[in-house]
Amino acid sequence: RAKELGRNNIQVFTEEMAARAHEKLQSQEELREALAREEFLLHFQPQMSLETGRIFAAEALLRWQHPVRGIISPAAFIPLAEETGLIVPIGDWVLRTACRQLKAWQDAGLPPLIVSVNVSARQFRERNWAARVAAVLEETCLEARYLELELTESLIMQDVPGAIATMHALEAIGVHLAIDDFGTGYSSLSALKRFPVRRLKIDRSFVTDIPRDADDMAITSAIISLAQKLGLRVIAEGVETEAQVEFLQKSGCDEIQGYFFSQPLPGEDFEVLLSSERR
Ligand code: C2E
Ligand code: MG
Ligand code: MG
Ligand code: MG
Repeated sequence: RAKELGRNNIQVFTEEMAARAHEKLQSQEELREALAREEFLLHFQPQMSLETGRIFAAEALLRWQHPVRGIISPAAFIPLAEETGLIVPIGDWVLRTACRQLKAWQDAGLPPLIVSVNVSARQFRERNWAARVAAVLEETCLEARYLELELTESLIMQDVPGAIATMHALEAIGVHLAIDDFGTGYSSLSALKRFPVRRLKIDRSFVTDIPRDADDMAITSAIISLAQKLGLRVIAEGVETEAQVEFLQKSGCDEIQGYFFSQPLPGEDFEVLLSSERR
């Protein structure tokens, strides 16, 4: 009986696995088609300087405009894109599109801005990736100093010497680097001083419960002073309330990004916001 039961269990298990594998294959196919059909788009979220109160940068955030399901957020498809390697061509598209958009805004006479692009580990590890970034900049006629690449701590920690080499190659081109989701990825503080980065982005999880959570406030102000002492700029992500802005300002944070100031916006809306700033 036990044997039979076991056999049944195995059967159930395999059927479920087969169904799941099929499901995955379908969406992998869908992802591939989405790229070919140009169903991806970028939204842009402003980053504001606490010193000047002005927008100085925009983070490009990927969206999938699905013909049936509507707009799909990156959390729902980036893991699969990474697993299947599709993140490489998708990431190329993101980089090219973000650079092209920024160049168009520059040509339209909008105030100077930096565009920040998220990079996945798979992309970053591609052979000669820095040269590919340089090629995109050349193709889109964008000066390297207007591009910032966001790397996560876990991406860097997977292979510290390799990552540092690629980071130096990117630095040599003139591109700026930021560490995204800082504080969540166990990067050693001694390694941090060897990374040629310009900015730390304090992870949203530390910001959310300010000013209710004293520990989060302590962590956030510690990251800010660490950044200051290392000569790095520091931005807080996920800033939603006035109280958070006040705390961050008081703690010496340079910049903020979050719903308090603006949600990520379609390009046209971002352009309107940016032009309204000009005086
Ligand atoms: P991230 O790079 O840390 O981006 C910040 C995320 O926080 C964005 O989510 C943004 O919409 C959200 N956010 C910003 N302000 C607030 C706020 O005040 N409150 C709350 N609750 N959320 C806020 P999104 O756009 O869903 O992106 C999620 C993640 O997907 C990104 O996290 C990034 O890791 C990844 N991602 C997005 N676009 C790309 C891309 O082009 N390539 C790669 N490799 N990853 C991407
Ligand atoms: Mg980011
Ligand atoms: Mg982040
Ligand atoms: Mg994140």
